[in-house]
Amino acid sequence: MLRIPCPWCGERDEIEFRYRGDASRERPAAHAGLAAFNALVYTRDNPCGWHAEWWLHVGGCRQLLKVVRHTLTHEIHWVGAPGEEPPSRPDGPPLPPQAGH
Ligand SMILES: [Zn+2]
Repeated sequence: MLRIPCPWCGERDEIEFRYRGDASRERPAAHAGLAAFNALVYTRDNPCGWHAEWWLHVGGCRQLLKVVRHTLTHEIHWVGAPGEEPPSRPDGPPLPPQAGH
């Protein structure tokens, strides 16, 4: 089972959280059109490696968290609030700027 260290509640089991999507995607502008929003909702990457994700702590503080997790090993590198950015990737250069949610 995945254990997620919530910055407000401490480390908790995955069952207390709900996955809320890819934190590296940027929401299109309001006038971007149907195709752009269709791609946002239905087009998915399936990365193998470090990935920035949104997780909602539904069984705890109900805060939205940004989590940098390895999709193969499930290792968690960093957890923060939506406006925060991880300082670096554990195996390489700093992460690119993340989209707001
Ligand atoms: Zn929490």
